Amino acid sequence: MLKRIVPDEFVQSVYEIDFNALQRRGVKAAIVDLDNTLVESNRPEATPELIRWLDRLQGMGFKVMIVSNNNRTRVSRFATPLRVPYIHRARKPLSAAFKKAMRRLEVGPGETVMVGDQLFTDVLGGNALGLHTILVVPVSEAEGFFTKLNRLLERVVFRWMKQRGLLGWEEQQK
Ligand SMILES: [Mg+2]
Repeated sequence: MLKRIVPDEFVQSVYEIDFNALQRRGVKAAIVDLDNTLVESNRPEATPELIRWLDRLQGMGFKVMIVSNNNRTRVSRFATPLRVPYIHRARKPLSAAFKKAMRRLEVGPGETVMVGDQLFTDVLGGNALGLHTILVVPVSEAEGFFTKLNRLLERVVFRWMKQRGLLGWEEQQK
């Protein structure tokens, strides 16, 4: 069971995925989650960076499909302008949508990578069918993570300076 929720790869964002390496191992298609994988869940459209990323993948010959548990309005509004095929209300981790996606992309499990931000939907569902699974840090949390890290570093530096009497202005105010 545990093995089923462990991804084959773990990256900070979709932009870090080494698609050349995937291509060398025979991967031809990417099934990608939408919310917090490609963009924040409250962002209706793709960012310019994401559009370039998709262009590059498709230029390399990869087939791409968005498979999301979200509703038709959300997924279609995002995917249609990109001309990327999609499956909405996919009910991941259930296998049906993964199988349907592979059928439509005309690839087998060994030729498919699943990219998503959630262990219990994206990774579990992908692993169950023997896909190569890649977990990304959720887009919104990635921002939160760096903000938190920044704050923490600020506090550490602040304390360090204070201990060394480098914050003289503060002492004078007392
Ligand atoms: Mg997601």
